[in-house]
Amino acid sequence: MLRFQAHCHASALRNLLSYSTVTKVEKPLEKVYYTKLFINNEWHNAVSGKTFPTVDPSTGTIITQVAEADKADVDLAVETAKRAFKLGSPWRCMDASQRGQLLSRLADLIERDRVYLASLETLDNGKPFSTSYNMDVGETIKVYRYFAGFADKWHGKTIPMDGNYFCYTRHEPVGVCGQIIPWNFPLVMQSWKLAPALATGNTVVMKVAEQTPLSALYIASLIKEAGFPPGVVNILTGYGPTAGAAITRHMDVDKVAFTGSTRVGRLIQQASGESNLKRVTLELGGKSPCIVLEDADLDQAVKQCHEALFFNMGQCCSAGSRTYVAESIYNEFLERTVEKAKARRVGDPFHLETEHGPQIDQKHFNNILDHIQSGKKEGAKLMCGGERYGDEGFFIKPTVFADVQDNMRIAKEEIFGPVQSVFKFRKIEEVIERANNSKYGLAAGIFTRDLDKAMQFTQALQVGSVWVNTYNIVGCQTPFGGYKESGNGRELGEDGLKAYTEVKCVRIKIPQKNS
Ligand code: NAD
Ligand code: MG
Repeated sequence: MLRFQAHCHASALRNLLSYSTVTKVEKPLEKVYYTKLFINNEWHNAVSGKTFPTVDPSTGTIITQVAEADKADVDLAVETAKRAFKLGSPWRCMDASQRGQLLSRLADLIERDRVYLASLETLDNGKPFSTSYNMDVGETIKVYRYFAGFADKWHGKTIPMDGNYFCYTRHEPVGVCGQIIPWNFPLVMQSWKLAPALATGNTVVMKVAEQTPLSALYIASLIKEAGFPPGVVNILTGYGPTAGAAITRHMDVDKVAFTGSTRVGRLIQQASGESNLKRVTLELGGKSPCIVLEDADLDQAVKQCHEALFFNMGQCCSAGSRTYVAESIYNEFLERTVEKAKARRVGDPFHLETEHGPQIDQKHFNNILDHIQSGKKEGAKLMCGGERYGDEGFFIKPTVFADVQDNMRIAKEEIFGPVQSVFKFRKIEEVIERANNSKYGLAAGIFTRDLDKAMQFTQALQVGSVWVNTYNIVGCQTPFGGYKESGNGRELGEDGLKAYTEVKCVRIKIPQKNS
């Protein structure tokens, strides 16, 4: 089960790592092995020769330069992926069970290099090592294993159609899949996209986020080691408006899967319409409500609503960023919530006790502080935080606003940062309407001991995921995705395979004696 809110006690982690006295993990600064483009199972400089820096968000310093892909590199990668998809190619001739075996082997290699991958993720992204190790790498392994098992089980049907025909469906791969992923869960997002695409026999050109290219390139090296044929997976590092846009407009890319902002999601859908109508699946933003009823277990609700928002420094598409609390328990809930935010351990992400690291980059850091300013200006009550932490890197103190009103900017826009907004409500019908009054529809949490009320909410909320008395629990077995402007299509689970296959229907006439 993927628990976005990975709670791992430092001592337990030390045991896992067999470092009984260690409080801190080493930064893998000297051990960044891969910085070039991965095309056809080989490492390439960009055609232009250009590179760009990736930064350590906990210090703001450059880790290394990485090859900067542009349209010319996308063209090469797509050509390679198209060749690898040709009928008769090693990949197209491979048994489905063998594809599954390659994915299983990849999972084993990730497990072998788990400590290294977790530290690389923490270096490039800034998330606490304990989260990288437990949640990010742990779940990545599970996702590859889950879809490995599906490789020879995603089959069609025989259909008793009218007339004398033998009718069956085949689930065929879509073709060359362009995949564009964000920086908040680099390894996990890569697995959500690669695993179902490969299990179903597609080939891939993936552009990873410019802020976090390193772990994806390391996975590329493991893909080669696992034995995937050349050209099946191609990994590009580069920027969105150049390399990313070239994928979305390419006439030989059959499908694009994207996770990121709603703004870019719109551009991707447009690019599909203006090029070859490639299939598009989008996993976009959210402004997800957490609703706490009068009868909720208050301790649990406070804890869950805190993690729902602050997990991954608030940089989570499903972050519970609107906390609605029943009027009768509002004051007590607020007091405990502020206490909890103040106690959150912010600091060096390589320290095993750290719960809260830096934001991803300077631009995002500025944007969050700007939202905090707007909250103050529009009259929300700042209860704690609201400013940077320390004097280097992009840290922001866990922030809580009380008495937030639905028309404020912090109530409507996705902040993607450590800013919890607490609202008051009186009636159930009222809070259902307010919760649904958003252009987004990704997720919602409801906290109550009353089953009837819980059922009322699970039916009424217009969202792709509802959690009852818990939050941010996602399993590789369960579908995840959004209603409304939170996107379209589902990832993970059996539903996640649909986006990577075309359904072909075959109708064969059965000869009859007198016909
Ligand atoms: P973004 O949408 O710009 O970037 C996500 C990915 O899309 C990156 O790989 C990026 O290079 C690529 N991209 C950007 N412009 C593109 C284009 N024109 N064509 C093709 N690909 C393009 O997100 P961001 O700038 O990193 O973050 C901005 C906001 O987006 C965040 O503050 C947050 O609100 C939201 N976001 C959501 C998620 C999520 O998980 N749903 C993840 C990251 C960011
Ligand atoms: Mg980085």
